[in-house]
Amino acid sequence: MLINSMNMFLVTMVFSTYFHSNMKRCPHCKSDALRVKKYASDKHALECSHCGARGPMSKIDELPALVASVSGFNLLRTVIDESPDVIFIKNWQGDFLLCNQALASLYGTTPERMVGKTDADFNDNAEQVASYEQSAREVLESGKTTTTIEMSTHAETGEIRYFQSVKKPILDPEGSNKLLLVIAHDITELKNAYQAVEESEKRYNFAMEASNVGIWDWNITDNKVHHNSKWCDILGLQSNMRVHDMSVLEKFIHPNDVEKMMMAVEKALEVDGLYDSEHRMVRTNGEVLWVHDRGRVVEYDRNGKPIRMVGSFSDITLNKRFERQLERTSKELERNNETLEQIVQERTEALELAVKELESIATKDQLTGLGNRLMLEQWLAMQTRNQELVSILIDLDRFKSINDRFGHQVGDEVLAAASKCLSDIRESDLLIRWGGEEFLILLTNVTIEQACMIAENLRANLQNANILPVNEQVTASFGVCANPFNKTEFENAVQQSDEALYQAKKAGRNQVKVFCNLTGTKD
Ligand code: GH3
Ligand code: MG
Ligand code: MG
Repeated sequence: MLINSMNMFLVTMVFSTYFHSNMKRCPHCKSDALRVKKYASDKHALECSHCGARGPMSKIDELPALVASVSGFNLLRTVIDESPDVIFIKNWQGDFLLCNQALASLYGTTPERMVGKTDADFNDNAEQVASYEQSAREVLESGKTTTTIEMSTHAETGEIRYFQSVKKPILDPEGSNKLLLVIAHDITELKNAYQAVEESEKRYNFAMEASNVGIWDWNITDNKVHHNSKWCDILGLQSNMRVHDMSVLEKFIHPNDVEKMMMAVEKALEVDGLYDSEHRMVRTNGEVLWVHDRGRVVEYDRNGKPIRMVGSFSDITLNKRFERQLERTSKELERNNETLEQIVQERTEALELAVKELESIATKDQLTGLGNRLMLEQWLAMQTRNQELVSILIDLDRFKSINDRFGHQVGDEVLAAASKCLSDIRESDLLIRWGGEEFLILLTNVTIEQACMIAENLRANLQNANILPVNEQVTASFGVCANPFNKTEFENAVQQSDEALYQAKKAGRNQVKVFCNLTGTKD
């Protein structure tokens, strides 16, 4: 109750004083000489100065005297006028007998001008006036104090003001007429505030319901959680589950995810106010769904303790399904890739082997196992330009005769065996089958003299090898180039070796000759 009960008490006193200060009629002689008299004992009584009649004061009669003795009538009048509440007294006919400044301001007049007038004299709104009159009649008829909410239009601004009015029927001091005391408290601001709250609550509810996601609003103090109907829809719940205790929520969370979800809540409450969790929930029909649940603390108490948290969740079951599918497909792809990689690796290795085999076939002479001219090319390509080389060309002596006498097959075997006898060279050197029964050796980092010694050793090897099935030696002639050379001079050097070989043949075969041209550059 906003109306100060003290106000009611004061008004009653003032009204009584007002009446007493004006009422002088004596009930015995009917003169206007009745007065309050104060006695030495500080008691008050009524005494008629005309007929001398005297009598005790009733309780209400005593009030003005009391008030007068305590603070005086003017003070009370001031208090009433200064009250922000509208205060007035009307008689049965609706005439104002007393009204304060607050009411006069509302009606755009003064308290004095209102006495003896009615609401209709100041208020153009006939509907309002009629409702005041009816309300006044009802209160006076019932004889009971009533509280009502009323509207009144401000005379100057035209603004509608709302009042909570306490209406109390009282008797005039003579006890014969019923009067109405009204104290009305302006609740316009309060009503507007309520309206604003109602409006925002409506908007909040509308937003909750219009949302396509499940919304929750947790009052941490009473541990109640409010939801929108979408929340219930998602979980297959009846709408009577829109408000429930926080502890009930646990039964909708998948048992394996309760701990994880609660940890996320705790983190929000104790750390940063932010909540974010992906977990499974269980529908009433047992179906499991994945949700992305997010929220934040929106209210804290004065001690910084969270008291309200709001959030929303959305059904991400499909996303999760796709995610899992994607994961499975990726793994499968990974496995396929691995298999593919393995296959590719195996194929590559096989291919490398085949290439090596091919290279070997292409660069090796099949009969002797020695390199051929292709290998010579590759070998030369690997040599630096500064690498010094010495060439020795070798031709088996009278090989045609071996073929002729022992057959081509034996001739082949002799070729293979001879190649073994010529293979006693360093790794850095090269021996190839030059063609037919001819061989070529390229020696690295040797002088012509050293090359001749090597050639001589090889010649001896072959001669002493007992290759033929008969006691007959297989021999060869050797031609050494004139000087060490680099790879760009190869053709010329081989030509020299060939010439030297010819000289060896001419000189009787089975010997080593170094190129020596006619100009005598070398012997
Ligand atoms: P010279 O001492 O003057 O070199 O006499 P030669 O008989 O060795 O010379 P010629 O060039 O007349 O004969 C070479 C023979 O080598 C002719 C050819 O049939 C034979 N020959 C060449 N290649 C092969 C082969 O791969 N296998 C066999 N069995 N014989 C071959
Ligand atoms: Mg030959
Ligand atoms: Mg020959």
